[in-house]
Amino acid sequence: MADHTPPIPELLQKEFEELVRKRFSGKQQIFSSAIAAEGPVGDEKRLDWDFNYTPREVKDFLDRFVIRQDEAKKVLAIAICDHYKHVKSCVEGRFNAEDEYAKQNILLLGPTGVGKTYLIRKIANLIGVPFVKADATKFSETGYVGGNVEDMLKELVAQAKGDVQKAETGIIYLDEVDKLATRVKSSIKDVNTRGVQFGLLRLMEETEVDLRGGPDLHTQLQAIMDLQRGKSGHSKINTKHILFIVSGAFSGLEDIVQQRLHTRSIGFQDGRGLSDRRERAGDILNEAGVSDFVSYGLEPEFIGRLPVRVACHSLNKNDYFRILTESHGSIIKQYKRSFAAYGIELSFTDEALEDLAAAAAAESTGARALLSLLERALRPFKFELPSTSIRELRITRDLLADPQHYLQRLLN
Ligand code: ADP
Repeated sequence: MADHTPPIPELLQKEFEELVRKRFSGKQQIFSSAIAAEGPVGDEKRLDWDFNYTPREVKDFLDRFVIRQDEAKKVLAIAICDHYKHVKSCVEGRFNAEDEYAKQNILLLGPTGVGKTYLIRKIANLIGVPFVKADATKFSETGYVGGNVEDMLKELVAQAKGDVQKAETGIIYLDEVDKLATRVKSSIKDVNTRGVQFGLLRLMEETEVDLRGGPDLHTQLQAIMDLQRGKSGHSKINTKHILFIVSGAFSGLEDIVQQRLHTRSIGFQDGRGLSDRRERAGDILNEAGVSDFVSYGLEPEFIGRLPVRVACHSLNKNDYFRILTESHGSIIKQYKRSFAAYGIELSFTDEALEDLAAAAAAESTGARALLSLLERALRPFKFELPSTSIRELRITRDLLADPQHYLQRLLN
């Protein structure tokens, strides 16, 4: 049977040094120099962000990037402001320890590609805190098969460039938590998903995690490096102020909610169009309560640690058009920049953008479809045009209908 006991760092260090000495004839200082570039790690650091936003300011900021999802933006903006104002008051010593405070961990529901990750990433950018996204399907209870939930904390410290204090105010975004539900067909096979839920809820509350513990090679190498430089900094991370945001599509949950509410079915028989029905599914998900999630197969304790819940809506053709034309992070801008790097000016007709939006709406990958559609259509032009004297490319309906043919005509 395999021995899963974590090796002792000192022993591992010796063995590793020996190996490196043999392999690189005495140049075994490779780790120390790499780490020295990171600078000191210790208690002397202070928080390097300041949080003075109001919920409306946070929403206004998100509006510049994310199309629709107004309810989610409002709920997130309020929760984020509450959380970071509380963290600030703790750090500045203004919080009275006798006062109760329940952390505003968030559950974000909704289909794929509608802006859930985008919202959280932008919030983390705005505040200037480290951000980690992980996938709940990668974890197992023990961490020996798949990852360990505590790996996310190590990743957060890495994102904070080794600054544990900064990592302690970061955001962890965990996608696909619906796959941890024990009563749905999509549950991950051969993994104790209930155990993973309990592992997560421990992190969501206050706990201290040893950053040097763990059986994985990365952790052990980090422990060796820390030993080599005689590092006395934090080896533990406290999760008290880390904001956890979990998300999932929760397909089928709307049926459970509907049954409880005894509302009319949103199935095909009601004569609505597909986008109408999807829209209504988002509204129904916003009604989901603890009992619905428990019926779905999540542990009551787990769902109880996620007091802020909101659903993101699926997007329609009009939304995709706006994502292309209005969002500050529009993929169109990226394409224009990449062609401009070769001195080629790229432009789009409105009709072409409408066709792209309609094609994206026909797929089920959300706004990600826009990227794959554009990539497919523009790839041949990106390859050929930089080697020609053509300095302008206008994307039209014709071009999108048959890019190869259009390119040949252009080259001829
Ligand atoms: P998910 O909901 O699965 O987390 P993402 O937020 O990762 O989806 O969306 C993928 C990409 O699609 C984003 O990086 C962004 O470029 C674009 N996108 C998705 N939804 C929106 C939206 N509502 N507004 C603007 N862009 C969006």
